[in-house]
Amino acid sequence: MTLSAATTQPKDTAEASQYNRIRRRLTIADMVLNFALLIVLLATGWNATLRDWSYRASGQRYALAVFFYVLMLLLISKVLGSALDYYGFRVEHRFNLSNQKLKSWLWDETKGWLIGLVIGVILVELIYWTIRIAPFKWWLIAWAIYNGLAIFFAQIAPVVLFPLFYKFYPLTNEDLKERLVKLSERAGTRVRGVYEWKLSEKSKKANAALAGLGATRRIILADTLLQNYSPEEIEAVLAHELGHHVHKHIPKSIVLQVGISLIGFWVVAEGLAMAVDREMFATVHDFASLPLLVLMSTVMSFILMPVMNAYSRQKEREADRYAFRSITKIAPFISSMNKLADQNLAEREPSRLVEVWFHSHPPVSKRIAAAEAWLKEHPASA
Ligand SMILES: [Zn+2]
Repeated sequence: MTLSAATTQPKDTAEASQYNRIRRRLTIADMVLNFALLIVLLATGWNATLRDWSYRASGQRYALAVFFYVLMLLLISKVLGSALDYYGFRVEHRFNLSNQKLKSWLWDETKGWLIGLVIGVILVELIYWTIRIAPFKWWLIAWAIYNGLAIFFAQIAPVVLFPLFYKFYPLTNEDLKERLVKLSERAGTRVRGVYEWKLSEKSKKANAALAGLGATRRIILADTLLQNYSPEEIEAVLAHELGHHVHKHIPKSIVLQVGISLIGFWVVAEGLAMAVDREMFATVHDFASLPLLVLMSTVMSFILMPVMNAYSRQKEREADRYAFRSITKIAPFISSMNKLADQNLAEREPSRLVEVWFHSHPPVSKRIAAAEAWLKEHPASA
């Protein structure tokens, strides 16, 4: 099938291309910085120096020493990355995409860092605990615990983590609620709630998402979307999110993550065993190996990025097709895509390499082309 309709679409503005180029460079710079930090720690032996400090500070108590170690690593990483973080904040303002004040941003950064610390400490303590109790099969236990934690955090995220950064209110718009009920009925399913996300307090961008698991599963719609889009356009966005729900995309991603992390933990355990064999570390539970474990997982995640993003783009296309089937007219879907691209300064036509490596969603040009192709096959949706 030809997608010739794509040629009639608006092109990327110079501003959008520049904004996305800067954001991408920031992402890459951040990855390189963290990668370099891990390499330097391991190559200079500072990873062992930090471990000795941690032991001394903790009065030789292992679990407390692990906590100090994680704390120091996260502090160093944050301090080194702070210039890039601040530049990222400035870029959003420069392109008129943010209305967040510096003080509010600093507070968000602090909260984000503290959440990272809590999750990081829990995870690392558990990993070194499993290494101590089961030096050979630790990775299997750690893998099970890791996925249990990931599912737990996915479940509590919409009710505990998101509200730390944004306010959420149950949707009050009766017309939209009715549209959603009708969409859900047609799908033979029920979403537990739709929430208005007060994104406008910090950003000029618009967004929507399906989040949570089980009792916390919900559709969230940014107020920036609710204010500026027609009811038909919002319905198209809702239908897309409902498509994720109907096709069980969240549980399916969890299953994929469970499988991939099993291989990941095994590779990390093998790498650690080899490092101990080569006397990089005196014992297998020497937590000075943490930078090596993080390095191995970072490299694996980077290699897997195109795979995970391809998987995600496929799910997005599926949700789009679900939306085409459930809404009566396709035009509002296309106009909502155009509005979102303009408002968020999204790149409509990124290069193929950029799309493959970095994009979790198909580019807007392809999503619109798919909608136009659908329209040709289903003229009744015009
Ligand atoms: Zn989606």
